[in-house]
Amino acid sequence: MAHENCLPWHETTWQLIQRRRVAGRLPHAILLTGPNGIGKERFAERLMQALLCKQPEAGGDACGQCMACQLYRAGTHPDVRRVTAEEQGKSLRIDAVRELIDGLTFKSQYGGYKVASVSPAERLNRAAANALLKTLEEPTPETLLVLVCSRPSSLPATIRSRCQAMPFAVPEREQALVWLRQQGIESPETALDVVAGAPLSALAIAGSDNLALRAQLLEDLERIASGGSGPTTTAARYAKHDVQLVCSWLLSYVTDMIRLAMVPNPPGVRNSDSRKGLTKLAAAKNPVELFEYQDALMNARWMSETQVNTQLLVEDLFLRWDRLGKR
Ligand SMILES: [Zn+2]
Repeated sequence: MAHENCLPWHETTWQLIQRRRVAGRLPHAILLTGPNGIGKERFAERLMQALLCKQPEAGGDACGQCMACQLYRAGTHPDVRRVTAEEQGKSLRIDAVRELIDGLTFKSQYGGYKVASVSPAERLNRAAANALLKTLEEPTPETLLVLVCSRPSSLPATIRSRCQAMPFAVPEREQALVWLRQQGIESPETALDVVAGAPLSALAIAGSDNLALRAQLLEDLERIASGGSGPTTTAARYAKHDVQLVCSWLLSYVTDMIRLAMVPNPPGVRNSDSRKGLTKLAAAKNPVELFEYQDALMNARWMSETQVNTQLLVEDLFLRWDRLGKR
């Protein structure tokens, strides 16, 4: 059975885990790290289901048929716990973390493994991290805790050191393109490029009107730069959208502008479909100011993950863009 959570670029890590499982050396806690949009959660689900399955396949995947698999798919398996962020920017709930710990501590209700996942683990606050630490220090047999994290440096070192780290990287471009075409995206190149090669992010934006909005964003940058429209009016259009996405597009555009401003025909231009427009914009701006703007964007992208006033954040970014070269 082709498992819905099987992603081709996970195969090496999957086989590594399976070898450990066969050898009886599966760790109690795994830390899946790597950028967003490459399917770390899917890997966690694939692994958790495989451990609960009563008749796993030869490759280690869940059978999808047994009672455990049916309960898992229905979301009613009693030996699975998950803690996820309920709201953008908020910490993971401490009571949810405590419930998860209880689930791992008590006897398995269905016989066999008990599994749990925490995602994104960087949202554990200090109290929750401390509670989890005790479980990591004294694990019960046949338990697996999977922490999913795109910023492992923001996890306490005490947590990190007690987990088996499994780093995931962005897949090879060709592999990602093949996979996206299999998902029904006819021309996935632009979508993949604008999300820095993360296939699941590419799939999300290719199937929506986000790509059109991204093209519009470049036009708006041009219009503000030429004095054709005001930054505040423009900002209003984007504040209603996924601000994290808008910040990452701006960052990607400006990073390309810096590349294009430094050398002719630079390699690694991510927005290759917009090279002409970006070259023109880059030529009209001072590179030092572009670097400063890039810093501001990185900061904004980080802020956009917290509970910030998105209207003000976006407005500030367009005002800064408008001011470039006017000081
Ligand atoms: Zn099964």
